[in-house]
Amino acid sequence: MGYPANPILVLVDVDPAGGAASSTAALIGAASTIGAPVALIVGGTPEATDAAARAGAQVVLTATGDDAALTVPIADALQAAYRQVAPDAVLVSNSVAGRDVAARLAVREKLAVSVDAVGVSRDDEGVVAHHSVYGGAYLTESAPTYGAALITLRQGAVDTRAEAVAAPVVEELAVIASGAPAASAGAVEAVEAVSSRPELRGAAKVVSGGRGLGSKEKFVLVEQLADALGAAVGASRAAVDAGFIPQSHQVGQTGVSVSPQLYVALGISGAIQHRAGMQTAKTIVAINKDAEAPIFEVADFGIVGDLFTVVPQLISLIEARKG
Ligand code: FAD
Repeated sequence: MGYPANPILVLVDVDPAGGAASSTAALIGAASTIGAPVALIVGGTPEATDAAARAGAQVVLTATGDDAALTVPIADALQAAYRQVAPDAVLVSNSVAGRDVAARLAVREKLAVSVDAVGVSRDDEGVVAHHSVYGGAYLTESAPTYGAALITLRQGAVDTRAEAVAAPVVEELAVIASGAPAASAGAVEAVEAVSSRPELRGAAKVVSGGRGLGSKEKFVLVEQLADALGAAVGASRAAVDAGFIPQSHQVGQTGVSVSPQLYVALGISGAIQHRAGMQTAKTIVAINKDAEAPIFEVADFGIVGDLFTVVPQLISLIEARKG
């Protein structure tokens, strides 16, 4: 079939149950700002195809997955789609799987990869990726000298959403397996999430606590504010090292990078390594008893005060508004 003009090929991350990952809407939304989104779903359910169509894909290409082999079948499908669609750019989630597949496509098709972009745009010469670098201190741009732009997009960084198109085309993609060596997963065991809170990666709101919380018991205050706001819980490395919360909640250079709409930092000094993981948040609120704390340099709203006095008041105000 013919594809729309200026196609942007979007690889949808598929979860183990075959659903479209939560990054899908942002990937397709970003693609819609620079061209016509053409989504590729490998090993997804019909619901995943619907999700991509609802998110604004003009064309949804589907390919059969492989439950055992990791990554290679997805790279094979992405390469087949790339050759068939001849896109202006390829957008992939900056997830572990997304980065792996992007690297494989780059090697196979001799493309330059722009990693961990926080936005995309178009200029006279083509598609440009935007990056937040050096701990969020600078914004830079990257674009390939030749070939299509291959971009991994940071989860949560783009909040543009596309309108669903009236009648998206759904097409089965023919893929010839490359036979490249692939790692395989022997047994896949689902880990039940015991939390009703949003996942940190990609969350729209994050409340993080630092060493200023003082103890694991008192860290509950961070969770209470997060629950009042419907936010995910994050932490500084000092809070993780002190055992207040597991490492999976660590935000920063050696933890998770987040770009939520709202980031609330409680008792966090704002070291460069922490800021590296949260500085691209749209609105940053800091509560710290030290007016000189570096976190205030990046905060949009700051409260100088004891968090154990301020946060309970904040929670009751939020609850009162809800009521
Ligand atoms: P502190 O710097 O000790 O700050 C605690 C803050 O709490 C202070 O500002 C204090 O004024 C305030 N406070 C105390 N009591 C109260 C109160 N009652 N009310 C209000 N405020 C209060 N850090 C990360 O976070 N993420 C990373 O990924 C990361 N990676 C690193 C990688 C490397 C290679 C290195 C060297 C370091 C890394 N760090 C990282 C550590 C980082 O340098 C800081 O040490 C850490 O972020 C400090 O955490 P903190 O702000 O919670 O603690």
